[in-house]
Amino acid sequence: MHITDLETFVCSYRFPEPDRWYAGGKDDKEPVAGHFNAIIVRLHTNEGITGLGEVMPWTDLDARIDALQNIVRPRLIGRSPFDVDLLTTFGPDLHTNLGLAGANIACWDIVGKATQTPLYRLFDRDALAEPRLRCYASGGVGWAWFDRPDDLVDEAIAHREAGFTAMKLRIGTSWARADVTVPRFLELLARVRTAVGPDFELMLDANMRFGPEEFDDVLELSRGLHALNFQWFEDPIHRAEEEGYGFYKGRDGSVEPDSVGMYRNLREQSGMTISGGETTFDPTFLRRMIDGDAVDIVNLDVTWLGFDQSRRVATWLAAHNRRCIPHSWTTGISFAAAAHFVAAIPNRYTLEFQTIKSRLMDDLLLEPLAPVDGHLEIPERPGLGVELNEDAVANQFQRIDGDILLGL
Ligand SMILES: [Mg+2]
Repeated sequence: MHITDLETFVCSYRFPEPDRWYAGGKDDKEPVAGHFNAIIVRLHTNEGITGLGEVMPWTDLDARIDALQNIVRPRLIGRSPFDVDLLTTFGPDLHTNLGLAGANIACWDIVGKATQTPLYRLFDRDALAEPRLRCYASGGVGWAWFDRPDDLVDEAIAHREAGFTAMKLRIGTSWARADVTVPRFLELLARVRTAVGPDFELMLDANMRFGPEEFDDVLELSRGLHALNFQWFEDPIHRAEEEGYGFYKGRDGSVEPDSVGMYRNLREQSGMTISGGETTFDPTFLRRMIDGDAVDIVNLDVTWLGFDQSRRVATWLAAHNRRCIPHSWTTGISFAAAAHFVAAIPNRYTLEFQTIKSRLMDDLLLEPLAPVDGHLEIPERPGLGVELNEDAVANQFQRIDGDILLGL
């Protein structure tokens, strides 16, 4: 079998106004996500089997598509998808690497279909796979400090009533605009904790919105989360991972102390479980985070790294007794990829299930994977186990140009 073509296209979904979600307000800026994109990769073979993959779509869509067409495609044409790991080895360019990660997923989808095997079974070298996964409701992005913060409490209750046993929430809209302080936020989180009870798992993702100059506030917040029995605190402080060892540049260009050291101090001084890594594609930086005791959990993203690198990182994390809980926030394709990955790693804990109302999660696919009562049962279909709804791709998800965030 050999690859005959690489096809790539963008699918977009515009959120109806009530479903728009807040995306990192700071000072007087209050951006909301107006639409969402997906860069789909489809590989074709001479035996008629096709494979699906997805490429991280937040920015630079055309640069990523150019890399897929002009660098990744020539590398794959005529080659066997069974050589997937060798064919998709990373180089120095970000866009090419992201394209290679998407191609890696698509090659594996073909391998699964060619061998009539679900991917999690192909990945399961130690016969320890678990195809029934506990999902956590990843949300807490639709509430606003300037409106009705108690929407967050209502949302947490709704997730629990839907059968979820865990929820991840975000820090809300701009703190400066609504005079929010750490004690005020902790008071809201205490109400969430009371509403869902002591056994429901809660996680906070700060999405790196605090700067290093706010370390004392973040430490106070981290101690508060520990006291409220939060499961983990994700991406607490801004990191600039492309910078060299020892220092990194803050948002204003000033040189700040090493972010690895800052994360370690936060862990040690608060006792809180810290996680990070969803935007990291550089195994060297992941290694620094682990060797530097900066994080307890790595939230790598399979669409940034591909299956082979993600699995190597997970194995290495397991050897260091750390959990691997991948990030997943785009479409039903990447959700299926994350599910197969999690099912087959030894240090699995839970699977992220995005709860914003994005039709890219379900209507893009014929038989999307979806949790029931907070758990996902991976179907025994070969490969990723998902297929595009061709009619929906052609008629409902046309590309939308422009920044996905409004109000920047
Ligand atoms: Mg995150």
